[in-house]
Amino acid sequence: MKEKRTKIQVVLTDELVGQEITVMGWVRTKRASKNVAFIALNDGSTINNLQVVADAEKFGEDILRRITTGASISATGKIVESQGAGQACELVAESIEVFGEADPDKYPLQPKKHSLEFLREIAHLRPRTNTFSAVMRVRHALAFAVHKFFNDKGFFYINTPIITSSDAEGAGEAFKVTNFDLNNIPKTEEGQVDYAQDFFEKESNLTVSGQLEGELAAMALSEIYTFGPTFRAENSNTTRHLAEFWMIEPEMAFYDLQDNMDLAQEMLKYLVKYALDNCADDLAFLEKRIIEEEKNKPQAERSEMTLTERLKFVLDNDFERVSYTEAIEILKNSKPNKKKKFSYLIEEWGADLQSEHERYLVEKHFNKPVILYNYPKDIKAFYMRQNEDGKTVGAMDILFPGIGEIVGGSQREERLDLLTTRMQEMDIPADEMSWYLDTRRYGAVPHSGFGLGFERMILFVTGMGNIRDVIPFPRTPGNCEF
Ligand code: ATP
Ligand code: MN
Repeated sequence: MKEKRTKIQVVLTDELVGQEITVMGWVRTKRASKNVAFIALNDGSTINNLQVVADAEKFGEDILRRITTGASISATGKIVESQGAGQACELVAESIEVFGEADPDKYPLQPKKHSLEFLREIAHLRPRTNTFSAVMRVRHALAFAVHKFFNDKGFFYINTPIITSSDAEGAGEAFKVTNFDLNNIPKTEEGQVDYAQDFFEKESNLTVSGQLEGELAAMALSEIYTFGPTFRAENSNTTRHLAEFWMIEPEMAFYDLQDNMDLAQEMLKYLVKYALDNCADDLAFLEKRIIEEEKNKPQAERSEMTLTERLKFVLDNDFERVSYTEAIEILKNSKPNKKKKFSYLIEEWGADLQSEHERYLVEKHFNKPVILYNYPKDIKAFYMRQNEDGKTVGAMDILFPGIGEIVGGSQREERLDLLTTRMQEMDIPADEMSWYLDTRRYGAVPHSGFGLGFERMILFVTGMGNIRDVIPFPRTPGNCEF
């Protein structure tokens, strides 16, 4: 017979003292004395454990021996005010059922601190740790907040395809999709792969962005957003890149670049505020964790603000809006540039900015989030709106402390002639993009949009250092386990 289960989060927040309830979860630790065992039980509903008190004589060696770190149990009993420090209430067990044992000699998660690197090797078990369960709960809260933010503004959530045949942006960064027998690939007479015989009868790949399709929807529904998986076969082994990540891409008719920046800033602040308001316990845990970690670092590398202070700082400050041209001047005259400390020195207008430059602007020069706009057209995508100066496009990137680029967006080129000329210059075949160009042929309007990397947002909010630690199953070069 199965008892009705109460979640530990409810037990710890509601006044349940005196009531008899059943809790179920996984044992974090067990401390046993001669007469009594104290079991710290966690069911994932909160970072906090419920203490289950089990009388040694009542339950006997046989049961208590099976209750070890990692084992799963159900415990029924009365909630009483706790005698011990650290918790308001505890459960005095009347009955305990052991669902599954976890051999203490083999269970990989010992009740001690494990390195994040080690935990990545056992990604199937790491949600059982405090750190990962906290990150996963924050991840959920932020995903929910994304939908709430847009829904409350009247945006529509649309699903753009995961398999596409347009690689306009991907330029070699896209994963191919095929059902060819790879040991026996059909070839044309010229010896090229014969995609006409493949599943889609043309070359196809996993999406690198839902934007182009998102634009089509915005040209009918006005304001839309996508929130889906995105794939990039870029071989950049950094703490900020995944081969599979999630991107939020709003696209809005009738928005110019300023409107676009306003929306992005409002959204980022909304997400930060949502986490502060709804994930207090998890953020407090993560903040404590960072403070512990930083004790091992030299003074100079420690951050000046705690996690909560950093989050509040983003809430309380407007992001600095700086044109690319102004940024280049700042960087050219900066100390690390003059002393040749940057790996890529900034010499002239037109240079692409590396993350060292982005972080210098945010962390050293402005000391707050920065929106860089009006980039040289030659370092940006074909669809960005050309400015009067003939040199720049209406792009905007948002740069965050510790992260670098968190948002990339632009006003889109809605003028058919300018767009097709630019595509020619950049060798993008107009015939394959005819479906996209139709929105410029019929009822074109000024419009804008941007992409927010969901994992980079979670990195910022949780204060974690590596993007592999904010997604349940990270995919990076050489890593596709679990
Ligand atoms: P970066 O220069 O950091 O590689 P990008 O210019 O390639 O970024 P965009 O193509 O503008 O990025 O994508 C929009 C957003 O998606 C970025 O601002 C970032 O937040 C996120 N993003 C891009 N590539 C990745 C990746 N490989 N892993 C995780 N997030 C990513
Ligand atoms: Mn990139």
